[in-house]
Amino acid sequence: MMTSTTPRPTTTMPDTGIYDRRESVVRSYARSMPRQFTKAQDVWMHDNQGGRYLDFLSGCSTLNYGHNHPVLKQALMDYIATDGIAHGLDLHTDAKAEFLGALESIILEPRGLDYRVMFTGPTGTNAVEAAIKLARKVTGREMVIAFTNGFHGMTLGSLACTGNAAKRGGAGVPLSHVAHLPYDGYHGADVDTAELLAQRLEDPSSGLDAPAAILVETVQGEGGLNVASAAWLRRIAAIAKEHGALLIVDDIQAGCGRTGGFFSFEGLGFTPDIVTMAKSLSGMGLPFALTLFRPEFDQWSPGEHNGTFRGNNHAFVTATAALRHFWADDAFTRDIARRAEIVAQRLETIAARHGLSTKGRGMMRGIDMGSGDLAAMVIASCFDRGLIIETSGGHDEIIKVLAPLVIDDAVLSAGLDILERSIDEIAHANFDIAAE
Ligand SMILES: *Cc1c(COP(=O)(O)O)cnc(C)c1O
Repeated sequence: MMTSTTPRPTTTMPDTGIYDRRESVVRSYARSMPRQFTKAQDVWMHDNQGGRYLDFLSGCSTLNYGHNHPVLKQALMDYIATDGIAHGLDLHTDAKAEFLGALESIILEPRGLDYRVMFTGPTGTNAVEAAIKLARKVTGREMVIAFTNGFHGMTLGSLACTGNAAKRGGAGVPLSHVAHLPYDGYHGADVDTAELLAQRLEDPSSGLDAPAAILVETVQGEGGLNVASAAWLRRIAAIAKEHGALLIVDDIQAGCGRTGGFFSFEGLGFTPDIVTMAKSLSGMGLPFALTLFRPEFDQWSPGEHNGTFRGNNHAFVTATAALRHFWADDAFTRDIARRAEIVAQRLETIAARHGLSTKGRGMMRGIDMGSGDLAAMVIASCFDRGLIIETSGGHDEIIKVLAPLVIDDAVLSAGLDILERSIDEIAHANFDIAAE
């Protein structure tokens, strides 16, 4: 299957004139993939020169169901063809009612979860801003505890919760009212960082103020695929409860099936007070974010937090179709588990051959190349071979496999073949030989 992949020869310079002249230099992904993309279907993206690429980035986990899934696309085309409401502020619409009903019956009730649904502005950072605002309002406290390597968005409130210095540096003002504590495993396997947090909160002289919230990713997507153990997360949940703080799980990247279940915390033995969702929620790459919280915390006054685009009805339509198509039974979850096992085993084999280590959980896994430079060489080599893949981590040193969850097993293996060849090649040229 992969032999028909035809990335455009790198010797031909793409016409990037309009981008160089007009688009801000803030652009980033376009730099490592200097092509002009035209179409995308399922797991494939096509450029305007006839090149075809297997997508192991999936819009950073925004396209878990692949590109232009036929069921979602049809639902949206039917809705537009009948002049369904496109934008309605936060008005009641048919599309919203259908979405809320599907979320309630397909996701929340079968999992025994009772959450109010807040439609925030359409990006992940909006959902995080709403979550921390609500926690501060409910508790009357200011300080939020976030973790090392956490990523929560780029607006001031969520950026304050984000660890990465380069991103924080863009703020231009002090980022305050957040304390960053060590994530699970940050000080090595022998140090229980949940106990460090408990100790500081119990010590009246630690200098750590009583927190409004503890904000955590169960698997850190941008921060390098660090995985928190179930025991650590349960302890964090207990600490939050004990100290009157709300536990916020940022499920924007790890949710919607990426780690196996609809929520990344399913089966781990705790229930967050607040959950943020975005990325793959619409299922089709349409902007759509939600903040979910226990009913007793629904203490907003009307319009106290709002936004013009809280009613992306096209996203409601595709999100509803995705819930009905993928989540009505457990077939999809079993598919994800099988594919995750394929990825885990293949990455383990590749890593072991070069003395590297693997990271992640579910379909959110990667290989630690130990250096950002080496990881950059690997992804460049993959791209030349028709595979789109990216890095994450504090030094961009982790190769991050975010294949679409719907990917055919054989195509998944073929993509992993490309990754294997590229890592073998870079490792051989750079450190295997040095080690000999
Ligand atoms: C992507 C991401 C965000 C921010 O979402 P945007 O839509 O880019 O604002 C927040 N948290 C996590 C965990 C993310 O992966």
